[in-house]
This record gives sequence, structure tokens and C-alpha cells, in this order.
Amino acid sequence: MQPVSDVPPVGCPKRMVFGPCGGVRDDGRCELDEHPCVFLDEPLVRWPDPPVQPMTPSTLLDRAAYAPVVLADLSVTPFDPASVRRVVGVLAPVSDGLLVGEHANRPDFPPTMFAAEVIAAGGRVWTTLACRDRNRVVLEQELAGLAAVGVDGVLCVTGDGRGASVRPGVTQVFDLDGIRLAALAAGMGLPVAVPEAPEAPPVDLRPARVAQKQRAGAQVCVLNHASSPARVAAFVAAARAAGATLPFVAGVAVYTDEPSARVLQRFPGLHLDGAVVGQVLSAPDPRAAGIAAAVAEARALLAIPGVVGVNLSGTGSSGGVDDGAQVKAEVATQLRGMT
Ligand code: SF4
Repeated sequence: MQPVSDVPPVGCPKRMVFGPCGGVRDDGRCELDEHPCVFLDEPLVRWPDPPVQPMTPSTLLDRAAYAPVVLADLSVTPFDPASVRRVVGVLAPVSDGLLVGEHANRPDFPPTMFAAEVIAAGGRVWTTLACRDRNRVVLEQELAGLAAVGVDGVLCVTGDGRGASVRPGVTQVFDLDGIRLAALAAGMGLPVAVPEAPEAPPVDLRPARVAQKQRAGAQVCVLNHASSPARVAAFVAAARAAGATLPFVAGVAVYTDEPSARVLQRFPGLHLDGAVVGQVLSAPDPRAAGIAAAVAEARALLAIPGVVGVNLSGTGSSGGVDDGAQVKAEVATQLRGMT
């Protein structure tokens, strides 16, 4: 890892050095407090020279070099290996990778153990690793474990903050932020993805952040879902202009009812097309309409230069994790032309 300052600016609850995080609210307020985000109206925080240049092989990224790839969020019942096996059995045959999330309100098995379960069930796994609940030593342990069990890659995130009503009294660590975790992971030989939120303030600064994340060792950028493919296209073009050369995987919102749409709208920095949501929820068959909307959005995103894949994001259905997996599998199948 490059020698970098560990001194965050005063006032950032996540103690970010290379901020801002993706949770800045639409009005510029901090995700976790009432004051403005401390990184607003500040210059870009650059990753120090020399850049990390990983050449780490990844099945997903190798395939992305010649064909569009489909990454699917893995939503399962927490602490339930049988649920992991069932959902992986549905999604693994129709996708190029399964993305294991990290949710403040829904803890699950430790990342290394979770990844081992997915791999044993036949899945190719990308693990989201967040800085919220682990100090640096535990992050290093998990990265070593993820490398040992053979994950296809790790998505390095700072992590959304735990709200005051979620497990009150539980501390939030933030020894590192996502970009320093990315450098740590790259230095340990793991393929590294980083997130970015195209429509979170400060919008003008975020494309250049992607270039800095690449300098820290990122090999692919996974974008939060945005309000339209046009916004994603503009973001990717701006990131290219700022020097980012890595490929992008764009988020696709998968929902088929009101609760599964609401899940995707509750996080700062994430945006859905309100008109499309309305059309899906008022359709005679919202399930079919939701699947069709996701396929259409994915195809539009895959037409953007620089976007090599899509991430089927969200629960897909409020009817349980097995039904949600069936929804995402149907979207993936249509995208891969397997019907
Ligand atoms: S919005 Fe994020 S980066 Fe900005 S001050 Fe709050 S926690 Fe820090």
C-alpha cells in the first residue's frame, strides 16, 4: 500500500481521508449528521504517486474484455447456508458473478465464510467488504481469507453509516475508507472493484474520484443505479476525460412491487427513474413489467461506451429471497439471450 495520510478532515463521521463518501444527501448534508458534508466545495483529494498497477486475473473481468457481463446481487436469508445454496443454484448458472453485500441492518456470516459457502455452492463470488464494522486488522484478516478461499474479486467500500435506530450503542469503526481498503486489497493480490455514486453531491467531483480510485488499485468501477442511462453515459464520459481507463459495471434496479422498489430508494446517493417506477407498479402484471423494465435499462446501459457489464441490484421481490432470485435470474437469462 502506498504511504498516505491517515488524517481525515475535522467533522467527517466516517473519518474519510479520500472523501466524499457516496452517502452525501441530495441537499449536501452529511449522511450521518445535519451539517454539510465536509468535502463539499473542497478540491479533489488525489491518490499519491506512484499509482498501484494491479494485473490480477479475474474471471469476470477477463470475460468482460470480450462480452457483456452480468453481476447479480446475492440476497439470502441471513445466517442460513441452505438459503445461500438455493439462491446460488438459481443465479450462478445465468450470471457471470454473484455480489455479496454488506448491510448495516442485516449482518450475516463473516465475509470469508460467506464466500466459501457461495463457492461451495457453485458460485463465482465478488465480496463487498466495508470499513464500518471492522478495524484495520480485521479487514486485513478478511482480505487474506477471501484470497485464500478464491473469490473472483472484492468490492471495497467505506460502507453506509448505521442509522441511530439500528443497533443503538454499536460502534462504527472506519479505520480506513474505501479507497485505502482498495489499495490494501490490490496490494494483497486481489482483483478490486470500487463503487461510485454518479448522482450524489458533489456531482462534478465524482468522475475524477474514479480516476483516483484506479490509481489506488481499482480494476473496475461498480456504479450505483442512476436516474437514467443518459446520466450514466455522461458520468462515464466525464470519468474518461478525468483519466479513468478502467471498465464500468452499471447498476440496474430490479424490483417488481412497491416494497422492493422502496428498498432501492432509501439510501442517499441512489436514484431511480420515478416515471418507470410508476409504470411498473401500476401495470396489470407488475412482475412482468419490472422484469421488462430491468432488461430494458440494462440494454441501454450496456450500449454506453465503457460500460462492460451490469449489476442486477436489489431484492427483486418482496416475496422472499427465493422469489427475488427467480426475478433476477429471469432478467439475467433474457440479457444473456438464453431464452
Ligand atoms: S457525507 Fe460522508 S464524507 Fe461527507 S462528512 Fe458525512 S460521512 Fe463524511
